[in-house]
Amino acid sequence: MDSNNNDRFAHAEDCGKRSLALLLKEHIPPIPPHYAVGYAYFDHTPQEVFEVVQERLSQGHALDEDLLLALYERYILPDGYERFRSVRTDLERLLKSLLKTLRQSDAHNDAYLNALERHLQALDQATSSDDLRVIGAALIAATREVQVHNQALAAELRQARDELKKAHTELEQHRKAALIDPLTGLYNRRAMQDILQELWSAPGPLTMLVADIDHFKKINDTYGHQIGDVVIRQVAEVLRKCIRGEDYVVRYGGEEFVVLLPDTDLAGGRQVAEHIRGRVAKLRLVRKHDNLVIDAFTLSIGVAERRPEDNPDSLFQRADSAMYVSKSTGRNRVTAEV
Ligand code: GH3
Ligand code: MG
Ligand code: MG
Repeated sequence: MDSNNNDRFAHAEDCGKRSLALLLKEHIPPIPPHYAVGYAYFDHTPQEVFEVVQERLSQGHALDEDLLLALYERYILPDGYERFRSVRTDLERLLKSLLKTLRQSDAHNDAYLNALERHLQALDQATSSDDLRVIGAALIAATREVQVHNQALAAELRQARDELKKAHTELEQHRKAALIDPLTGLYNRRAMQDILQELWSAPGPLTMLVADIDHFKKINDTYGHQIGDVVIRQVAEVLRKCIRGEDYVVRYGGEEFVVLLPDTDLAGGRQVAEHIRGRVAKLRLVRKHDNLVIDAFTLSIGVAERRPEDNPDSLFQRADSAMYVSKSTGRNRVTAEV
């Protein structure tokens, strides 16, 4: 032991003995924190402890346990107990809010939650600043992980949502395309099955029209397919205009249409058919590039009302047969089944 160490030992012994003596004189139990404050007073380190105790003693006041403990926590514990406590409170608050957020959102992962719960428990048992530092570091790491995880998750969710929207739109377009006739925008034959199935379950009358353009082959042959298409579109337009919101028009085939009239009986269907027939017969088409007036064209229509023993096919067969009666009896006419 060199002289330097001897001095240090002597000084320490001196400070220790005087601290103990002071505590005994003041009737304060010489437990380590109290002893440490007394020692710090005689050692003048930290200086703040010396000054507070010196002032107190010089004013003739007694020392008490609360003051010594406060001094110990404030100046002697390396990071200060107060700071320890406030940091701990902050960490606790952060953890709790994080846990709450994670519990509330679906965007959580059990592993993170468990890690955070563990840190919260560790906080309860933390007794030193070192403990806090370790917990703090682990917490920051876990929090970053959660943040990264949540950001990634949110991005994934956004992407999934966008993809879902796109897929939904595409699906909707495909579904529509599958049920809609591109030339006229009317429902196609495939859609008719679904529509009939739906209408079939509703009570009340249901009437069906089958309409076919007369001598359509001749229109095509005389003016070409393009004009034929325009004629089909014009007829479709008339059909659309002659129905109510709850009715349906279907392009059943090339120049053949079906109209479905819910809540309509045979007489009502016949009226609608007559209306359609009359309007189509009045249509006058002019070819644009040479102002050629296209020959008038007409429709033959058959009407049938659903009967109790019917299924969609049998109803169609009767309406179609009625339409053929219109053909065989001169065309440009309406025939209701008998
Ligand atoms: P009918 O009065 O007996 O019904 O005579 P029609 O000439 O109308 O009879 P048919 O059913 O034999 O002829 C229909 C023609 O319609 C045959 C086909 O070439 C034509 N066609 C079918 N689909 C289309 C289409 O989308 N566009 C055009 N331009 N023609 C079509
Ligand atoms: Mg036909
Ligand atoms: Mg025809």
